[in-house]
Amino acid sequence: MTSLAQNLEKLPGYLDRFRDNVLLNHIDGTAYPAEDGRSFANHSPVDNSFLGDIARSGASDVDQAAKAAKKAFPDWRDLDNTKRKKLLHKIADLIESRAEEIAFAECMDTGQALRFMSKAALRGAENFRYFADKAPMARDGKNLPSPTLMNVTTRVPLGPVGVITPWNTPFMLSTWKIAPALAAGCTVVHKPAEFSPITARLLIEIAEEAGLPPGVWNLVNGFGEEAGKALTEHPDIKAIAFVGESRTGSMIMAQGAPTLKRVHFELGGKNPVIVFDSADLDRALDAAIFMIYSLNGERCTSSSRLLVQESVAEKFEQKLVERVNNIRVGHPLDPDTEIGPLIHETHFDKVCSYFKIAESDGATIAAGGEALSGDGWYVRPTLFTKARNDMRIAQEEIFGPVLTTIPFSSEEEAIKIANDVAYGLTGYVWTQDLTQALRVSNSLEAGMIWVNSENVRHLPTPFGGVKASGIGRDGGDWSFEFYMEQKHIGFATGQHPIPRLGA
Ligand code: NAD
Repeated sequence: MTSLAQNLEKLPGYLDRFRDNVLLNHIDGTAYPAEDGRSFANHSPVDNSFLGDIARSGASDVDQAAKAAKKAFPDWRDLDNTKRKKLLHKIADLIESRAEEIAFAECMDTGQALRFMSKAALRGAENFRYFADKAPMARDGKNLPSPTLMNVTTRVPLGPVGVITPWNTPFMLSTWKIAPALAAGCTVVHKPAEFSPITARLLIEIAEEAGLPPGVWNLVNGFGEEAGKALTEHPDIKAIAFVGESRTGSMIMAQGAPTLKRVHFELGGKNPVIVFDSADLDRALDAAIFMIYSLNGERCTSSSRLLVQESVAEKFEQKLVERVNNIRVGHPLDPDTEIGPLIHETHFDKVCSYFKIAESDGATIAAGGEALSGDGWYVRPTLFTKARNDMRIAQEEIFGPVLTTIPFSSEEEAIKIANDVAYGLTGYVWTQDLTQALRVSNSLEAGMIWVNSENVRHLPTPFGGVKASGIGRDGGDWSFEFYMEQKHIGFATGQHPIPRLGA
């Protein structure tokens, strides 16, 4: 790996073009500023430096993009699926060839560390490859014969869909939503988060360079309450795939109601990691630390509540404090950095506000609990111990490098604490007792559970949450279920009696 100094030298080659031009929308194969000429400034969370102006779109820009997606839909829907597969693989090839540029842009735009972002492009390419290979099977259906009919089912793509993504890992998440939509035969209007819009532009450039026809994928930048809202209300947009906060999900559901939008929501989490005294404590420690302090803690599946059995809690917490104090906070492009700055001043203020909340609620700040001085939105990795589950630090999604530990005495109590929260995205269980693992994973209210493991994503498995953490699943065939409609066709196999009215 190259050093920070070497990486900083390469940076202008990747980012200067955004600084010198407004980052434009991309509609029907052409780059456009917002129709009314508005834009907003995008600054890096790393050092507050100016990264560029971004088109601030309104309803008319979204309307143009939706019309382009509608126009492109019939040809894209009817494209030979082997050609679709080839094209999506070509997009993956080009993503891989620009991996470093994507990683550097993502680091500077989001504050995420290079050690994780260097894999973002590869993960994105993998998403395209996985769904490219599935594209030829997207329309497969069932044969459900009845005495008088041969009943067959098939799936058809919904039409133009809207994809709205958050700022935490924008490149990976955009590919995760857009690749299956395209593989299903839908056309797309993408609205990336206003805090980190750069890699969405790289992605659409790559897609069209790979040969994706104009209008199949359109990009509209801007604020959620303007461009995002207009997208969710547009009558030509058949569905909204949304990743973001739970309360934004509620708003989108209300905004989409008049046009009967189908929605898929991947929302927030306050995920428990439960460590029983029989667990391999060293592995549990590594996994708990990784799941909350990687990606700056700005991770929906982070293990933000650590439930430790009382008999091992003291020893476990001691080791935890040592490790948390050792985590390297620094410039995202420094290969040694483990935690970079938080995305934005508003988010930094939110995360820091929990330091006071923890104190006033009576928890112990065992590590961190303060911001770092200088430019950029850096905070120390933080650990709250001796918390109760009814405290705000145990109930609310902080979305930063902040872990809350809560002791428990029995399995029953652990399950009760784990489920006593509004969210239900993931749960992590550490135990060597197989029947305990089965009992606990059966009782946890979460869409995804890992036993003796951190979150290891496998693309054919269903990804999504319950309760306030989401509606619907991504991954495998579940993605196609969202982006496609079932169609049933019944063929008469003979001359069955048809009821004769008025005969
Ligand atoms: P956010 O909800 O503020 O914004 C997400 C996107 O929605 C942005 O593009 C924003 O512009 C847009 N938006 C905002 N208001 C809108 C409106 N009224 N109508 C339409 N669009 C609107 O979320 P965020 O702060 O960018 O991201 C952090 C959140 O995302 C966290 O809660 C995190 O848990 C969640 N997240 C969930 C997953 C998952 O898979 N479950 C993955 C990553 C992030």
